[in-house]
Amino acid sequence: MAQPTLTVDLGALVTNWTNLSRSASRAEPGAVVKADGYGLGVDQVAPALAHAGARTFFVATAEEGAELRGLLGEGPRICVFNGHMAGDAPLISQGKLAPMLNSVDQMVTHLEALPGHPFGIQLDTGMNRLGMEPAEWQAVREIALAQSPVLIMSHLACADDPRHEMNARQLSAFREMTDGIDAPRSLSATGGTLMGPDFHFDVTRPGIGVYGGLPFFDALPVAHLEVPVIQVRDVAPGETVGYGNTWEATRPSRIATIAAGYADGIHRIMAENAFVYAGETRCKIVGRISMDLIGVDVTDAREEPASVEMLGNHQSIDTVATAAGTIGYEILTSLGGRFTRRYTGG
Ligand SMILES: *Cc1c(COP(=O)(O)O)cnc(C)c1O
Repeated sequence: MAQPTLTVDLGALVTNWTNLSRSASRAEPGAVVKADGYGLGVDQVAPALAHAGARTFFVATAEEGAELRGLLGEGPRICVFNGHMAGDAPLISQGKLAPMLNSVDQMVTHLEALPGHPFGIQLDTGMNRLGMEPAEWQAVREIALAQSPVLIMSHLACADDPRHEMNARQLSAFREMTDGIDAPRSLSATGGTLMGPDFHFDVTRPGIGVYGGLPFFDALPVAHLEVPVIQVRDVAPGETVGYGNTWEATRPSRIATIAAGYADGIHRIMAENAFVYAGETRCKIVGRISMDLIGVDVTDAREEPASVEMLGNHQSIDTVATAAGTIGYEILTSLGGRFTRRYTGG
């Protein structure tokens, strides 16, 4: 085994989705599978969730939607967050996708190109990223509602922090713009789903929690990354390891060189703070992370490891993310193309 093995536990993925669905009271649980299923492989992730009962899927782009349609077949609804962009009509039409229209412009594009084709509406409730502003919505609301949109949605900016006052502000803005309408409504991703029934509306849109990340504290790990050790050497006090001599041994050390690097999404910036596991022993990454190689101090390991765990039961995507100064989402979506990928529990 020359390259790292990324094992994706589809059983854990489905358990996370099911548990998030249960916490969403009566709302229909959707599933967000954008960016290749958060980097874990949409071709495996989406069918597993469909099999578990997911009926509404969300992607970012029409291209992703078209691919997903090929994977899932006719049944499930596929919603496109980025809406209807110029040139998307063939994909939207053939893929039977529902674009979430983000502006009056997108609405005009859609109604002209594909009259009668299903769509949803995305409203901006304060994040200022995607969606119609209240005044725009006011202007087209009657026209839009007359065509029975499949979903009216908005997105929370601060749902990873349930105490943030922005959540209540966006909730009330969303209610103001949508109370009394017939179309199904959706406000919450993982964070909002965990904030209780006021935030659930008709459809939830969990993503990161399904893939094992915060803010779903009870998530089971889904991504397991095992990296082979290429060689192990003795390093005497005063000797250094890696580019730039940034690490110097202060004791007689055993240093393993493992077969992954920043080209695999192991961010170079995390070196100072990051660990891997050799069996049950937490081992410090030492020296700089190279493109394909990383040094690890395995002096304290009980046995010389054949491989080390970078992600899995000992170390979550959020632990690694903290070492890299980022979030679990970015760790997952950075995972490289050079891994041997295995899927279990499907
Ligand atoms: C990515 C995304 C989600 C899923 O968010 P998570 O935090 O991963 O649960 C939901 N809705 C929108 C609009 C998104 O962009």
